[in-house]
Amino acid sequence: MTTTRRLDGTVALVTGASSGIGAATARSLALEGATVVAAARRRDRLDDLVSAIGADGGSAHAVEVDLTDRQAATGLVDVAVAEHGRLDIVVNNAGVMLNGPIEDAPVDEWERMVDLNVKGLLYVAHATLPHLLRAAADAEPRGVADLVNISSVAGRVARVGSGVYNLTKHGLGAFSESLRQEVTERHVRVALVEPGAVATELATHMRPEVLAQMAKRFEGKEILQADDIADAITYVVTRPRHMAINEVLIRPTEQQA
Ligand code: NDP
Repeated sequence: MTTTRRLDGTVALVTGASSGIGAATARSLALEGATVVAAARRRDRLDDLVSAIGADGGSAHAVEVDLTDRQAATGLVDVAVAEHGRLDIVVNNAGVMLNGPIEDAPVDEWERMVDLNVKGLLYVAHATLPHLLRAAADAEPRGVADLVNISSVAGRVARVGSGVYNLTKHGLGAFSESLRQEVTERHVRVALVEPGAVATELATHMRPEVLAQMAKRFEGKEILQADDIADAITYVVTRPRHMAINEVLIRPTEQQA
């Protein structure tokens, strides 16, 4: 007996799918029946993910891409649509967090955050939007499409030591809301998901002295897992056509601010 899954017939693009929240989301959407295009730079990780999704009975396709390169980001979208014919769901998740004081900061860290968290995300949104609009105008399979932008509690609350990361994520909130208003009447739902602390590789890219300082904030606390966020994203994109979840702020219960 075949059972119908909620995302059967859809194609989902997940950026930053080689680890953490992106990998968990790719698996979760594939379990719901979406064909997943998994994008990031680390080919080996993407290949492992595609195998894991296949072993679960799902379908996925890996695309190695550096999203800070505008042409490469556009190329990713072209490949996804050429290969799978459509795009129903885009999870704009790839991001870096390189925290530290603003005074004497290595400016290349700021550039890396702006290049990926802002510009990379914009490239993907811009290139995917026509396809999302087309999918939304198509009564089958859903008559609706989803763009999910992954922000952070850092997009709501600024704090000492994360000024430029705060800037990228606050900006994303504004961009998402503006785009939401532009396309929602055409049934493209734009959602903003704002996680608190999640156990992923994200913090490991920071300078060791900054990481040591940050780790103190969550010492002894039970933080979120990537699957918790994937679960929320899957909830957002599986709502009925008339219902749009605009914003989801998710903290570990033990995270105060
Ligand atoms: P990870 O570091 O595990 O994942 C980041 C992903 O982004 C990886 O797949 C990485 O893959 C990809 N990536 C990095 N640089 C590039 C690039 N230039 N081009 C393409 N892909 C790139 O961290 P998370 O899963 O935690 O982060 C995912 C998102 O969640 C980010 O936007 C982050 O800001 C946000 N977030 C995370 C929180 C947390 O506590 N973990 C809290 C709030 C928000 P690769 O290196 O292979 O390219």
